[in-house]
Formats: sequence, C-alpha cells, structure tokens
Amino acid sequence: MTKFKNWLVRFFSGRYGTDSFGCFLLILYAVLCVFNAIFHFFVIQVITLLIAFYYLWRVLSRNHYKRSLENRRFLRVWQPVKTEVKLFFDRIRYSKTSRFRKCKHCKAILKLPNKKGKHSVRCPKCSKLFDVKI
Ligand SMILES: [Zn+2]
Repeated sequence: MTKFKNWLVRFFSGRYGTDSFGCFLLILYAVLCVFNAIFHFFVIQVITLLIAFYYLWRVLSRNHYKRSLENRRFLRVWQPVKTEVKLFFDRIRYSKTSRFRKCKHCKAILKLPNKKGKHSVRCPKCSKLFDVKI
C-alpha cells in the first residue's frame, strides 16, 4: 500500500491542478452531459469528451506558466461577464428597496435607496457629485 501511495505522491507532485478556468470547464462539462443525456447529439458528446480530456490534461500538466497564462486570459473575459450577471441578479433581488445607477464620472455602479424624485448623489469611489432621477 505504501508503494502505491508513494507512486501517487510522485505522480501528482509538480502538477498544475485546478483553477478558475478548470472549474469553468468542469461546469461546462456537467452542463453538456445533462444536455446530452436529454437530447443525445453526437457532436455534443464529442465536445463533452474533448472538454473532459482537455480538463484532465490541464490538471496533470507540469507547465505552470502556460496554464496560469490560459487562466489569466480566461479571467480577463470571464470577470466582466460575471460582474454583469451578478448585477442582473442584484437588480432583481433588490428591486423593491434599491435602484442601481452608473456614476457619470467613473462608471461605478451605485446601489441607491428607492426614493422617487431627483437626488444629488456623491459617488463613494470618485467622490464627485452628480444628479440622478429615480
Ligand atoms: Zn464615481
């Protein structure tokens, strides 16, 4: 048993492991598996397999530099999408108590109390005053 354990330790030492891009690939793999279980498309099945192999290849890769570059490129695309999705759900979640407005100077999103009328607001990020209508 200790031989197997030592082999496992040697096999996995120095491997890249998983990161945000890996988690995204796993979630995509799971979604495509569910989709494929319902609709049975051969092309989707092949894509699912390719994603699984690509994920495993990334996890077992020893080239940390290239894998982290891939992850950085993925995050550069994913972060704005994630921010927009979070804002969309926050708008629904706080629709009765708050309104979301963009600062005219720095484009920061502000969550303002839902009081009807025209208000003067100071942005907490850039500290500039601007008028908003709710
Ligand atoms: Zn601002």
